[in-house]
Parts: sequence; C-alpha cells; structure tokens
Amino acid sequence: MRAARMRAAGHARVYDWAGRVSRSGAGRCCPATMIVSVPECLFCGVAAGDIPATKVADGERVIAFRDINPQAPVHVLVVPRDHYPNVAALAAAGDAGKGLLDELIAVARKVAAAEGIEDSGYRVVFNTGPDAGQSVAHVHAHVLGGRPMAWPPG
Ligand code: 5GP
Ligand code: ZN
Repeated sequence: MRAARMRAAGHARVYDWAGRVSRSGAGRCCPATMIVSVPECLFCGVAAGDIPATKVADGERVIAFRDINPQAPVHVLVVPRDHYPNVAALAAAGDAGKGLLDELIAVARKVAAAEGIEDSGYRVVFNTGPDAGQSVAHVHAHVLGGRPMAWPPG
C-alpha cells in the first residue's frame, strides 16, 4: 500500500493512498518539515523538477501543468508542492495545510482565465479514492474546459 508520511501538529501520521490514517502507522517523518515529499510519488517528482511537465503556473506552494492524457482541449492539473494523498487529507490537515485549498482553487481560476475558458465554462475536479478513479495519490485539481461536457460524469 502506498503511504504518505506526514507530521502535522506534532503528531506523526501515516496516511494510506486514499488519505485514511493508517493503523500500522509508524512512519519515518522528516524532523525539519511539517510534511515530507514521498519519494515514489509522481507529482512530488514533478514539483521537484525531477519529472518533466509542461508547466503553466509555478508558484511557491502550488504548480500547474498540462495533463499528459488530456480529456478536453484544456486539461491542466493544479498541484500543491507539499504531499497530501487527496483533497480530503488536505482538508483534514488543519494548520499544516492552512490556506492551501484556497490557493489551489485560486490558481485553478487563474489557469481558466489564462486558457480563455473563464466565460465558456470549465470544471474543477478532485477525484478522491477508487470509485472516483483517482490514480495519482497526490492531491490535484483537474481544470477541464474548451468543450461542452456531459452530466452526470461517467
Ligand atoms: P487522477 O486519475 O488521479 O484523478 O488524475 C491523474 C492525472 O494525472 C490523469 O489525468 C493522468 O493523465 C495524469 N498523469 C499521469 N501521469 C502523468 C505524468 O507523468 N505527467 C502528467 N503531466 N500527467 C500525468
Ligand atoms: Zn506527492
């Protein structure tokens, strides 16, 4: 099971890939930071610059880059540099993740404006867990637009 090691509010926590606190949890945490990057994590690798990506935004806490397998004319992933397994884990992180969810949404809006889809409309999607089809266990917002989209999603 993929695990993300986190240290938040003085407690060492280990999350499973879906963001649940693992019972087997004695992970090794970095003493100097609240949250460590996960060596085998794809998006930690992109954030570190070790894995190439076509970036469209590059901030202190948040980056955005084009999805490698776009599902719409505009398909950008908005990703925090720090590792959280999914949006539920980020929302539950308290002070450790303070303001980060706001920042993800703010960057998503800026990306939509820069890509020219602000008026035509777009989706911001956080797939969370297996039933939603989450395949990368590092929280990311999909920004999708540039074509009409059906509802409900498949
Ligand atoms: P999820 O399925 O977790 O909601 O979304 C993961 C997304 O990451 C997918 O849309 C997938 O196409 C994208 N992805 C997977 N590997 C890479 C990669 O190496 N580079 C980029 N830019 N996107 C990737
Ligand atoms: Zn990560």
